[in-house]
Amino acid sequence: MPIDPKLPYDENNIFAKILRGELPCNKVYEDEHALAFHDIRPQAPVHVLVIPKGAYVSWDDFTAKASDAEIAGFMRSVGNVTRQLELDGPGYRLMVNMGTAGHQEVPHLHVHIFGGRQFFQMIA
Ligand code: AMP
Repeated sequence: MPIDPKLPYDENNIFAKILRGELPCNKVYEDEHALAFHDIRPQAPVHVLVIPKGAYVSWDDFTAKASDAEIAGFMRSVGNVTRQLELDGPGYRLMVNMGTAGHQEVPHLHVHIFGGRQFFQMIA
């Protein structure tokens, strides 16, 4: 079910539990700003999620409330992940689902990284 992005941050959402180490993940990268792990239901040969360490419900919440340093640090982290995965040569696709209309299901901001195959023209 997609989430209402205006609800307050739920400390018990699944990605908050992963950040606290209460649930496992298949980690690919971590730094002070972000944690990245393989999606449990991959939609491409490479499907990794990157989440900020701060408690932000969505892209909208993050870009409204996070400091410039947090936003810049998180963006750099996403780039670090794509380079670590060696996707910078062939290329890749990034996606963020936001709120109900965007069909966001987990109420902690996450950037999807898709790679490992050729993608085609985006049809929304
Ligand atoms: P979204 O629709 O953008 O909110 O995407 C949520 C994503 O989280 C989906 O691609 C799920 O497969 C993925 N997901 C849900 N639970 C887990 C989990 N425990 N570990 C890794 N990925 C997960």
